[in-house]
Amino acid sequence: MPSNRARTDLLHAVQEEVAGCRLCPRLVAWREQVAAAPRASFAGQVYWGRPVPGFGDPKARLAIVGLAPAAHGANRTGRMFTGDRSGDWLFGALYRAGYASQPTSTARDDGLVLRDAYITAAVHCAPPANKPEPSERAACAPYLARELALLTDVRVIVVLGQFACQSVSALLEVRPRPKFGHLAEYALPAGRTLLCSYHPSQQNTFTGVLTQTMFDAVFSRARQLGAAEPATSATVARGAAPQGN
Ligand code: SF4
Repeated sequence: MPSNRARTDLLHAVQEEVAGCRLCPRLVAWREQVAAAPRASFAGQVYWGRPVPGFGDPKARLAIVGLAPAAHGANRTGRMFTGDRSGDWLFGALYRAGYASQPTSTARDDGLVLRDAYITAAVHCAPPANKPEPSERAACAPYLARELALLTDVRVIVVLGQFACQSVSALLEVRPRPKFGHLAEYALPAGRTLLCSYHPSQQNTFTGVLTQTMFDAVFSRARQLGAAEPATSATVARGAAPQGN
C-alpha cells in the first residue's frame, strides 16, 4: 500500500488528469459552449469550462459523490458544487456537521477547507440538461474508481441522488442492486457503507422533498458510520421508501 504522501500525490495526479480530459465529444462541446456564453449574472467572469476534479481531504473517512458539475456552478468556478444553490445546501450541511471550515463556497480561492471529507462526482463534465449519456458515465467511471481506491480511509460513501447511487453501485458491483431512498444504507466491500441522500437540487429543496433537517441527518449518520467499526452485514435496511432523485 502506498504511503500517505504517495497516495496524496496519486490523488492529485488523478485530479490533474481529469482536468485535462477530452474523452466525451458531446460534453467537451457543451462545457465550452456554456463557458463562452456566461449568464448575465456572471457577465465578465472567466468560466473554468473544463472537467471539474474532485477535491477535499486525502485522508477523508467520508466521500460524497454527486451527479456532475452544474453548467453555471462548478463549470464556472472549477470546484465541485461551488457557486450554485446546490452547493449552498451541501456546504451549509457539511459546515454544521463539522466537515467544512465555512458554510459558503463561492470560488476556488475562497478559503474553504474540507476536513475528513472528499467531494467528487460520477461524471466530471457539465452535461446538457444535467443528463449524461450512459456512454459518458462509463467513460468517466475509471476516474471515480481510482479516486475511491486511493481514498483508503473512506468508511462512508454518500451518494447524492439516484444517478450517483447507480454509478457507485455499478462501479463497486453492489448486489443486490440498491433501492435508492433517502437515508437508505448498504454495506460495501472493504467495510464501507453506501449512504443515499436526495440530491440538494432546487427541484428537491424548493418543493420540500429535501429539507435542511433531512439533509443534516445524512451527515450526522455519516459521522456515526465513519466512527464505527466496519459494517459486516450484507445489507443494512434503513431509510425511507424510494422517491425523489
Ligand atoms: Fe473526460 Fe469524464 Fe469529462 Fe468525459 S465526462 S470528458 S471522461 S472528464
